Amino acid sequence: MAKINENFLELQESYLFSTVAKKVAKYTEENPSKKIIKLGIGDVTKPIAKACIEALHKAVDEIGTSSGFKGYGPEQGYDFLRKAIVENDYKSRGIEISEDEIFVSDGAKCDCGNIVDIFSKNNKVAITDPVYPVYLDTNVMSGRSGKYNKEKGIYENIVYLPVTAENNFIPEIPKEKVDMIYLCFPNNPTGTTLSKEELKKWVDYAKQNKAIILYDAAYEAFITEEDIPHTIYEIEGAKDVAIEFKSFSKTAGFTGVRCAYVVVPKQLMAYTEEGKAETLNKLWNRRTCTKFNGVSYIVQRAAEATYTPEGKKQIKENINYYMENAKIIKQGLETAGFTVYGGVNSPYIWLKVPEGITSWEFFDKLLEEVNVVGTPGSGFGPHGEGYFRLTAFGTKENTIEAIERIKNWKI
Ligand code: PLP
Repeated sequence: MAKINENFLELQESYLFSTVAKKVAKYTEENPSKKIIKLGIGDVTKPIAKACIEALHKAVDEIGTSSGFKGYGPEQGYDFLRKAIVENDYKSRGIEISEDEIFVSDGAKCDCGNIVDIFSKNNKVAITDPVYPVYLDTNVMSGRSGKYNKEKGIYENIVYLPVTAENNFIPEIPKEKVDMIYLCFPNNPTGTTLSKEELKKWVDYAKQNKAIILYDAAYEAFITEEDIPHTIYEIEGAKDVAIEFKSFSKTAGFTGVRCAYVVVPKQLMAYTEEGKAETLNKLWNRRTCTKFNGVSYIVQRAAEATYTPEGKKQIKENINYYMENAKIIKQGLETAGFTVYGGVNSPYIWLKVPEGITSWEFFDKLLEEVNVVGTPGSGFGPHGEGYFRLTAFGTKENTIEAIERIKNWKI
């Protein structure tokens, strides 16, 4: 008799975006004439930069020749891309990362999810709340969460770190000892960031407690303010305690093309039950070689093109476009009387829903009364209740129209 991984039964039923999609589909079916504007899911809308498309075409032609054909590539990624990442994302910021500390992959979602493979089931996990759901669910699947407490809406063995307006969206260092800490900045969903000083406290905590920080910097390219770290390795000592996740998805419009990378410094250690130190880079390399056959050559050439002068310029134009949308949403909502967070170093705007209604009730009202779709904060965790996420990834025209509708809305 084949047995299942019963951890899956602990997962909470519906995935946030599928519930949103179902509600929107039902409303559209019942109201076919209404123009719905979707500012919900964090997918980009601008076409991929020309420099990347040219690189893709060139690589496609190349693999059609006998001299340029590529079969299986290196599981960790081609040297040309690992080198470009090291030079442009780290060396240019004065950070020493070597090429064999970079692992190219087909997405930060998979990386954030797969990383749990190399950690013990006995680790205590801390997660900011609200949070990108992948960190929590993959820890549930791999048996680190304990049972779900329906009343409280939390898992017994997870340490939740609230990030709300009350603490200025700065997670507090936990009182109890934790072993794995998920931090995502600029944050999805709140759109807020941590200063170097705040992030340093986490690096210091991790050092003192031999903990590992899993740092998701998927939205780093949207940072506009000084003193906001673009990578955790800007913090002294972080190479001893942090794994970093980066993605070309939001930076370069690769949500459909798929390319990302993980940084696992060679000096980064975790321990056996007996307390013997092992290098995580070695473990992750082994895991990668066993379960992954690399990202396609053509995609890696497209990713490499994001670092050329033209690529950088074109990508910056796209990011500026989204950040202009963010400004329109933030200022428009403030004019309409909402309290708004994020949207300055991030494409996400996190608004406080009016007193007396839940974030799902706000979702329904917004959909039905002004035909705008966002994402209810409670879908990202219990401390997301009372908040609502809008994204700047729509078209400028749709963003302006959605905000005008909200400004004229008698809620
Ligand atoms: N990390 C965060 C915080 C995200 O919000 C997302 C996507 O929305 C991802 C990772 C996934 O990135 P990728 O497209 O590289 O899988």
